[in-house]
Amino acid sequence: MNNTAKLAKIDALLSTIPTFQCKEGCYDCCGPVELSRLEYERCIQASGRTAKDVKQQMKNNLKQGIYTCPLLNIETRQCSVYAVRPSICRLFGVVKGELLCPHGYAPESATMLSNEQSREILRKVEELGK
Ligand code: SF4
Ligand code: SF4
Repeated sequence: MNNTAKLAKIDALLSTIPTFQCKEGCYDCCGPVELSRLEYERCIQASGRTAKDVKQQMKNNLKQGIYTCPLLNIETRQCSVYAVRPSICRLFGVVKGELLCPHGYAPESATMLSNEQSREILRKVEELGK
């Protein structure tokens, strides 16, 4: 399977994750995240920056004790790659009993995913995005 087909499968999985409106201007859960290779490459491409630049910013941030994701646009307080944000970012706040938003924001409880469902999505995305 080529990367385009793999990304299409990843997107199909991501489309099953419920969405919700966050607290305005909040980015409290935008720390360093783990993501698959294909998700990472797509995020870098969408950011319009080089991987080297993003890595350097991450290093600089960490040296200063800043744990904010380097893909966050700090001026607008928004994710610079929102349309292609990785699976773990989408799962935050939508899993029953874990990854809960510290401010209590969440989708309708009936649409929230179980632990098993979220782990299965992460496992499949990781496998496809290797
Ligand atoms: S999920 Fe919660 S902590 Fe994360 S950005 Fe949204 S409101 Fe903020
Ligand atoms: S990729 Fe976007 S949503 Fe995910 S942690 Fe970074 S800024 Fe936040």
